[in-house]
Amino acid sequence: MAINNSEVLMQYDAVIIGAGLAGCSAAIQMAATGVRVLLLEQSRYPVHKLCGEFLSVEVTAAFERLGILESVQTAGASSIRRAYLTTKNGKSFHHPLPGTALGLSRYRLDAILFERSIQMGAECRDGVTVKSVTGNLQTGFEVVTSQGIFTSRTVLGAYGKKSALSSQLKRSPFVAFKAHYTGVQVSDAIELHAFDGGYCGLSAIESGQVNLCWIGHERILQGNRSLPPGLYTNPVLADRLSTMQRVPGSLHGLSQISLAIKPKFQQDVCQIGDTAGMIMPLCGDGMAMALRSTELAIPLALAFLDGKLSAPEFKYCYAVAWNREFWRRLRVGKLMHDAFIHPSVADWGVDLCDRLPAIGAWIIQATRGRATLTLD
Ligand SMILES: Cc1cc2nc3c(=O)[nH]c(=O)nc-3n(C[C@H](O)[C@H](O)[C@H](O)COP(=O)(O)OP(=O)(O)OC[C@H]3O[C@@H](n4cnc5c(N)ncnc54)[C@H](O)[C@@H]3O)c2cc1C
Repeated sequence: MAINNSEVLMQYDAVIIGAGLAGCSAAIQMAATGVRVLLLEQSRYPVHKLCGEFLSVEVTAAFERLGILESVQTAGASSIRRAYLTTKNGKSFHHPLPGTALGLSRYRLDAILFERSIQMGAECRDGVTVKSVTGNLQTGFEVVTSQGIFTSRTVLGAYGKKSALSSQLKRSPFVAFKAHYTGVQVSDAIELHAFDGGYCGLSAIESGQVNLCWIGHERILQGNRSLPPGLYTNPVLADRLSTMQRVPGSLHGLSQISLAIKPKFQQDVCQIGDTAGMIMPLCGDGMAMALRSTELAIPLALAFLDGKLSAPEFKYCYAVAWNREFWRRLRVGKLMHDAFIHPSVADWGVDLCDRLPAIGAWIIQATRGRATLTLD
C-alpha cells in the first residue's frame, strides 16, 4: 500500500547536503515552488574550492534560469571563446568553442549561488557539517549535523566528489591542485597542457587573474610542491609558469579524487552533481553537469513530495534520466582523459585533431550538453 507522504510530519520537505553548484541550484529550484528547504554547507562562504573554474557554454542558460547570470557578469567573469591544447612534445591544437564560455572563481560563484538560495527563500546555513543520515523516503529522514538534528521528507546529497559521507570511496591515484595567479596572459582561451602523468588547465577569471588547475597521478608529486617538476616538461606550460606569481590564500589541493560513476540513490538519498558522478576535469563540463542533474532530479522530487510519484517511481525515473543524459558524455570524457595523460597518445590525438579539426569539434561537442543560450 502506498504511503501518503503528506501525512508524515517533518521539519522540512527537503534537506540538501552541500552548497556547491548542485546543492544551491537544487535549493533555488525547490524554494521557488514554496517547499521548505534546508541547505547545509560545511565551509563558511566565501571560500576557495578546487576547480578549473571554466564554465562551459551551456552554463549560461542555466545561470539565466537560476536568476544569477547578471550577478556573474557583474562579478567580472571573463569571456572564453577558444580551446588551446598542447603536449609536452610540442604538438598543439586550437579550436573555437561553440559559443562564449565564462571564467569565474568558485570563491565568487558559490557565494553568488548561496546568496541567491537565501533570496529565493531556502533556509541556508554554512559552517554546518552533516555527519550522518538515517531513514527513507517512506518514513522520512533524520539528518545529524554539527549543529543539531533535522528531520525531512527527502534528502538530496550534493556533497561533491569527496566527502566523509561518500559510501564507496575507492582508492584513487589522482591528486589535483589549483591556485590563482597574476603575471600571465591567456587571452580568451581555455588552455590545456599535457605533461607526463597529468594535465594542467589555465583560464582567465575575474580581476585579471588566471586560474591554474592541474590533475595528475600521485607519482609525480615531489615533497609538498603544488607545482611539481613534471609540469615544466611541457615547454608551453613552462613558459607560462616562468612569469606567474601566486595570489596568497588561493591554493587548494585534494588527493584521492574519485572519477567513478556512483549510484543515483544511496539509502534513498537522491544524489546530485558530483555525488552521482563527475565527468573528467579535462572536459571542463562538471559544473554544467552538476546544474543539469538538478534539473532532472528536482521536478521528480517535487512530484514525489506532491504524492504524484511513488518512491520507486522517483528513483527509477531519475536513474533513467541521468543515464540517458550523461552516460555517453562520461564515456567519451574518460577516453579523452586516459589518452591525454599518456604523452605518446596525447601527441597522436592532438596531432590528429590539428590535421582534422572536425574530430576536435566532435570531441568538444560530445563531452557537453546543448547550449540553449549563448552570449554571442
Ligand atoms: C581538478 C578538477 C578540475 C575541474 N575543473 C573544472 C572546470 O574547469 N569546469 C567545470 O565545469 N568543472 C570542473 N571540475 C568539476 C567541478 O569542479 C565539479 O563537477 C563541480 O564542482 C560539481 O559541483 P557539486 O555541487 O556537485 O560539488 P561541489 O562543488 O564539490 O560542492 C560540494 C559541497 O558539499 C560540501 N560538503 C561536503 N561534505 C559535506 C558535509 N558532510 N556536510 C556539509 N557540506 C558538505 C562541500 O564543502 C562543497 O561545498 C573540475 C574538477 C576537478 C577535480
